[in-house]
Amino acid sequence: MTAGEIGRAGEAPAAETGTARAADPAAGKNAGWDWAQAEREMLELIGQLVDIDSGTFDKEGVDRVGGLLAEEYRKLGFKVEAQRREERGDNLLITHPYGRKADILAIAHMDTVFPKGTASKRPFSRDERKAYGPGVMDMKASQITTLYALKYLIASGSPAYRDVRLVLNTDEEVGSVHSRQLIEEQARQSRYALIVEPSDDEGTLVTGRRGGGKYYLSVAGIAAHSGAEPEKGRSAIAELAHKILKLHALTDAEAGIHVNVGVISGGTSSNTIAPHAQANIDVRMETAEQAAELDRRVREICSSVDIEGTSLELTGGITRPPMIPTQASERLLGIVQEESLKLGERIVDKKVGSGSDGNLTASVGIPTIDGLGPRGGSAHSADEYLLLDSLIPRTKLLAAVIERLSGERE
Ligand SMILES: [Zn+2]
Repeated sequence: MTAGEIGRAGEAPAAETGTARAADPAAGKNAGWDWAQAEREMLELIGQLVDIDSGTFDKEGVDRVGGLLAEEYRKLGFKVEAQRREERGDNLLITHPYGRKADILAIAHMDTVFPKGTASKRPFSRDERKAYGPGVMDMKASQITTLYALKYLIASGSPAYRDVRLVLNTDEEVGSVHSRQLIEEQARQSRYALIVEPSDDEGTLVTGRRGGGKYYLSVAGIAAHSGAEPEKGRSAIAELAHKILKLHALTDAEAGIHVNVGVISGGTSSNTIAPHAQANIDVRMETAEQAAELDRRVREICSSVDIEGTSLELTGGITRPPMIPTQASERLLGIVQEESLKLGERIVDKKVGSGSDGNLTASVGIPTIDGLGPRGGSAHSADEYLLLDSLIPRTKLLAAVIERLSGERE
């Protein structure tokens, strides 16, 4: 991202008055803070966010989510800068104008996997234990626990909130191609990365994720009548079939490598030799070496044809390097676990197969913890749910972790 690409979203940040209490740590510890009241407000905001469709390709919807969150952060005195995107929602970079270092990076994505119209079909709803609706746990609730963790720090008279820089991005669900540069750039200026992706039913943290990539293969053949003069044709579908089998053969489950041709299309009619065919390919791997080797082999397979007269075009590549635990990330995990224990909860960590923006921050060498959002399940499906009793604990945990990391530097 060039400096020119980032522009101010909206008016000037609120005056220092909004943060006057923070300037004086002695002023009323938690004065006026009421968790029951906070929970009501949080649910109200989560409901508002869920009821705005914000599928990755719905720029207007994603920008509405961004507008609502930008407004909330401005009320707290933060500065919101929008990185304009043409085909995606605008990424937001949020910092405090009085922050000295702002080197604790928090990342939360605003896009969902759900198409326009989903929110009106099944709007936000809740029962005693759970809340429902598109993106409720992945990750609209996380947006609000993050906001309220900062709000709570401000009310507590802790200046730690100024050490946070936030990236709210708009294309995580399709691999963060449009926000990767911003995330990596911000990560390089940070000591830690806190990824507020939702946690699972058990509240597990994530310290490792497989890497992944996406490729698009387009095959051109030669059309001909399959009955009258088949010898003139060259089938793009047959050529693609060769490639699919070779690509799937790269899978090595034991090594943690998976290649999946997940979407194919092509052809015009059953009695026409197919003039075109295409495939979307997803790859996953455990290590950086595997990523390089897998990328090389995918390109090699798609560099020559099995059926003469057809041609191939491959685009895409590795979008997320593997997130591999390091000594520094293990230390960060220890801090999060300690803070969680103080709040009465023992949490464990695990490595998972899916990717997130944590892959990007970890791969530029920043200690990263993921899964800091509230608990829930069935993400990306109509059964997606948020566990309500995790909202406040996860807000408190995030606030405690930020305060602790901020205090390290004093
Ligand atoms: Zn997510």
